[in-house]
Amino acid sequence: MADLLGAVPSAALVIDVRTAVRAANATAHALLNGAGHLSSLFTPACRAQFAAALLSASASGEAQHGLELEREDGKTWIMGSLAPCPDDGDLFVVTLSDITSLKNRLATCEASENRWHSALVGSSSGVWEYRADLDQWYCSDIWRQIRGIGPDEPIPSETDAWLERIHPEDRERVAHCVDRQIAGDPDYMTFDYRELHRDGHYIWIECRGACIERAPNGRPLRISGTDTDITARKQTEERLTHLSRRLKVALEVSRVGVFEADFDLGTSDWDDGMFALYGVERKEEVKIGGLWESMLHPEDREHVFGEVQRHVANLLPFSDEYRVILRDGSTHYIRSRTLPFIDSDGHRKMIGANWDVTGDVVLHRELERAKTLAEARNEELEEAKARIEHIALHDYLTDLPNRRYLDQMLDRIVADCDERGQGLAALHIDLDRFKQVNDTLGHNAGDQMLRHAARVLRDAMHHNGDFVARIGGDEFVFLTAYDGDDDALAVMAERLIAELRRPIVFEGHECRAGASIGIALERDGNIDARQLLLNADIALYHAKNAGRNRYEFFCRDRRHQMVTAHRLADDLLRALEKDEFVPHYQFQFCARSLDVVGTEALARWQHPERGLLAPAEFLAVAEEIGVVAQIDGLLLQKAVADAARWRAEGLRVPKVSVNVSTRRLHDPHLTQKLAVLSFEPGSVSFELLESIFLDESDEQARANLAHIRKLGIGIEIDDFGTGHASIVSLLRIGPDSLKIDRELVRGVARSPEQRRLVGSIIDIGRSLNVKIVAEGVETRDQVRVLAKLGCDVLQGYGLAKPMGMEDTFAFLRAESWRAA
Ligand code: C2E
Ligand code: CA
Ligand code: CA
Repeated sequence: MADLLGAVPSAALVIDVRTAVRAANATAHALLNGAGHLSSLFTPACRAQFAAALLSASASGEAQHGLELEREDGKTWIMGSLAPCPDDGDLFVVTLSDITSLKNRLATCEASENRWHSALVGSSSGVWEYRADLDQWYCSDIWRQIRGIGPDEPIPSETDAWLERIHPEDRERVAHCVDRQIAGDPDYMTFDYRELHRDGHYIWIECRGACIERAPNGRPLRISGTDTDITARKQTEERLTHLSRRLKVALEVSRVGVFEADFDLGTSDWDDGMFALYGVERKEEVKIGGLWESMLHPEDREHVFGEVQRHVANLLPFSDEYRVILRDGSTHYIRSRTLPFIDSDGHRKMIGANWDVTGDVVLHRELERAKTLAEARNEELEEAKARIEHIALHDYLTDLPNRRYLDQMLDRIVADCDERGQGLAALHIDLDRFKQVNDTLGHNAGDQMLRHAARVLRDAMHHNGDFVARIGGDEFVFLTAYDGDDDALAVMAERLIAELRRPIVFEGHECRAGASIGIALERDGNIDARQLLLNADIALYHAKNAGRNRYEFFCRDRRHQMVTAHRLADDLLRALEKDEFVPHYQFQFCARSLDVVGTEALARWQHPERGLLAPAEFLAVAEEIGVVAQIDGLLLQKAVADAARWRAEGLRVPKVSVNVSTRRLHDPHLTQKLAVLSFEPGSVSFELLESIFLDESDEQARANLAHIRKLGIGIEIDDFGTGHASIVSLLRIGPDSLKIDRELVRGVARSPEQRRLVGSIIDIGRSLNVKIVAEGVETRDQVRVLAKLGCDVLQGYGLAKPMGMEDTFAFLRAESWRAA
């Protein structure tokens, strides 16, 4: 046995179950170094391991191999194998060999692998290896993770299956690259491509690899390498490419040039845009203090250099604008944006962009010029507009605001009063006798008088908010705040009247106009300015009527009446202009023969809306506004013309009577007015009201009467019996007829008393050769009685009602009054 052991090249020994050494060869002895038990060589853990191996060897009868046992020194390792002795089951043959250096190498290897592993994990690189001889792949966990493959999932074992997962655009190239990599082409050690992730999206992979083992014939055996997920990097790159593409387009389109200057090296780097901008060939050298500086406009040089220096020193970004003179002699405006910085080498640098703004500058200048021009023109226009506005809102003669201005201002004035909690007073001022001054002394005198009036009124403006306007020929309105003090207004009106009455001297003449003032007031709150003006107007009317040169306050009660009168007056004036007045005719008959002996023309107003209006509807107002005389004249004229028509028709109407108002009788121009008419003497007569003759002293009326007579116009006393004139005084003017008022005629058939009265009037008439006309004859009885009493002429509804001219023809021809 000892011999046998001696033949074993490594340490060999025989031990019992408790590891006591029974025999050993020399190498084993050296190893045991005197120890009697083998297990005493090992660390406690290895002792247990060894004991377990002994047990299982004895139990199974089989040899136990590859026991790695650490020695007690903790530094050296022994590899052991044991087997039960074939002839004695309690003994075991053990061989030992020192594996310390092997173990050490293994540890180094492991450490290095660990390092690699963590490095690869850190860089998220997956490791792969391909065994060409076995057509087998090894792939690390990270390799799997990159692709979303689980650690236990199978991976395609064939190269073709793997290629399937590669982006179709990359597939061919990758196949080629792999070939080249395997072939050991250093250019293909690294390549990248897209591979489908398990999730269905492509990832970018950078593959590094090389053939690490070849067969002696050069055939590759092992290729190994790493795959790194570079998707993020690729995306960044793509973004960058995208960005720089955009930037390039932007720079090209905007013709911006970019430069970068290095102050430490004195160099400047221009892009194509810069060269194009400055019209310089690309090959020319640009350096600091060279090309660019030489092109700067001399006048801008100092400023530009100053800016650069200041901003570079403080590393502040800045913008600038300056002129450059290009090679072709043209001047261009350049705008720049510059960013000074220190680069990684510590160089002072400046990167910037330049662009040409000549077009902008020129345009801007032109716009500036156009703007200045437009402004100047606008100013002129404004002035002209202001002038026109002033003219439009002011009276040219007195320069006072006119009616329009007043209208425009009313709301504002009212608002101001409301705001201050004040009332408003309106004074409507009308110059008396202004027309007379105008007519007698001429327009210049009139103008001067108006200017005088304007001055007086303007001087009377004492309060903030006082407003004066000339609203018509000789009419003015004075608006002033009203604080409840009526006396103050009365004093003011009195003073104005006194001032306005003061004579002015015109061409040596003293001329004098008076003034009447109507005053209307409105207490604070809800002032109706237009109503206020109307009220002042009404008050003025009363002041005028009450005898001029005085003021009147508006009285509310009379307003309604006045307003209608006013409206009617306006309407009436319009009607005169439109010729809406026509005569209606009431025929008069001989009391004995019932022949037509005449007709009375009665005024009718053919109103466009209200129809035919009788005198009761309009005479009073016509009287007030003094147009009755005009109406009288008009009727006379028409009646004369109509008489001619009857004559032409062969109808006998021997005479037309017209009514003549007091005013007309006093008209100094009556003579002239009558002169234009042509009529036969005796064919026209004037009916004068009994009341006319009360005033005997009127020279004008007397003169007119004499003239009327001379023209062969008959004179009839109208409405006889209603006035109080003595019959004697009436007869003194020698009328041709007396018209007995219908009040007296009415009772003539029934009342003997009335009959006696009418009878005596008829008798007096007859004795004085004055014809008697009975008015208002309505019944046959009246006709009979009056005829019997000796009345000459009958007029009344009983025989003929007043009728329009067109109806007269048939009426006269039919003579139906006789039958009745
Ligand atoms: P007058 O001059 O006394 O005219 C007679 C009035 O008596 C007329 O009324 C006439 O239509 C009415 N009349 C005639 N017959 C009868 C009758 O049988 N019974 C009654 N109840 N009435 C009768 P009219 O046309 O309404 O005129 C009223 C007054 O107006 C006239 O009274 C006259 O004073 C005045 N007038 C009419 N036309 C003119 C005119 O052109 N100028 C002036 N200044 N006054 C005129
Ligand atoms: Ca009459
Ligand atoms: Ca009458």
